[in-house]
Amino acid sequence: MFDNLSERLERSFKILKGEGKITEINVAETLKDVRRALLDADVNYKVAKNFTDTVKEKALGQNVLTAVKPSQLMVKIVHDELARLMGGDTAELELKGRPAVVLMSGLQGSGKTTFSGKLARMLKTKKNRKPLLVACDVYRPAAIEQLKVLGEQIEVPVYSELESKDPVKIALNAIQEAKAKGYDLVIVDTAGRLAVDEQMMNEIAAIKDAVNPDATLFVVDSMTGQDAVNTAREFNERLDFTGVVLTKLDGDTRGGAALSIRTVVSKPIMFIGTGEKLEAIDVFHPARMADRILG
Ligand code: GDP
Repeated sequence: MFDNLSERLERSFKILKGEGKITEINVAETLKDVRRALLDADVNYKVAKNFTDTVKEKALGQNVLTAVKPSQLMVKIVHDELARLMGGDTAELELKGRPAVVLMSGLQGSGKTTFSGKLARMLKTKKNRKPLLVACDVYRPAAIEQLKVLGEQIEVPVYSELESKDPVKIALNAIQEAKAKGYDLVIVDTAGRLAVDEQMMNEIAAIKDAVNPDATLFVVDSMTGQDAVNTAREFNERLDFTGVVLTKLDGDTRGGAALSIRTVVSKPIMFIGTGEKLEAIDVFHPARMADRILG
């Protein structure tokens, strides 16, 4: 995860380590290198520029030039700013409703269905919740089947209506079913499309209005870099979602989505997906991610 970015940042700091005396020029040189590393990791241009401007201000404010170990101080400042960029504190998923309802959104292939299963499993095993999964994709029978297979693996029931073409009704019926049968958590997996389109947005917005979820999560493939950020912006404008799920962080992800999304859409990254298996889910901790990036 983010291997290239980590290596590049390490190299940037060498500029400071190698110098006997630190000058404003080699601080600037280092930060120019840091900015290049961020841009190569597909970080949004404005985000990268603001980032290095802030680091520079803090570095000069904290007297990096006269510090005993200037490169260490710089690494600390960059670490703290990276954590801040990714949201600072960990964002908790609040599930107060009975049943609590979580609505999943995102493009097809983002990992939405897999994540629905992962979240159900995690909340069942760690928080003792009794989840009901809901298949609201009325276009792809294979998607319903996929959710059922996941449900069986984690022993969580899946609500679906094979004949229905009305996802709003399916979601509402599922909530009734949960109430009747004592499930305290309803996870609604919705249809994804290959690109953002009006019909898709109308449909998911209608489901959201009808079920009034405790949380709406936007699931996005971290491998898609800047596109991930643009898609997040479009979904957020329509859905005002609660938080982001970044999937496929186990792959060769460059880091741009993780580092840009928070600033661009002002919503926290809440969970990450780190593999195809149902256990491969983690709560997102910005400071820990900054630790990993800086090695
Ligand atoms: P959906 O169309 O958004 O519901 O996406 P799926 O849940 O069907 O996932 C699409 C593909 O991505 C599947 O092959 C999943 O196994 C895979 N996938 C989902 N999450 C992850 C992840 O965190 N890491 C990896 N490596 N693969 C994932």
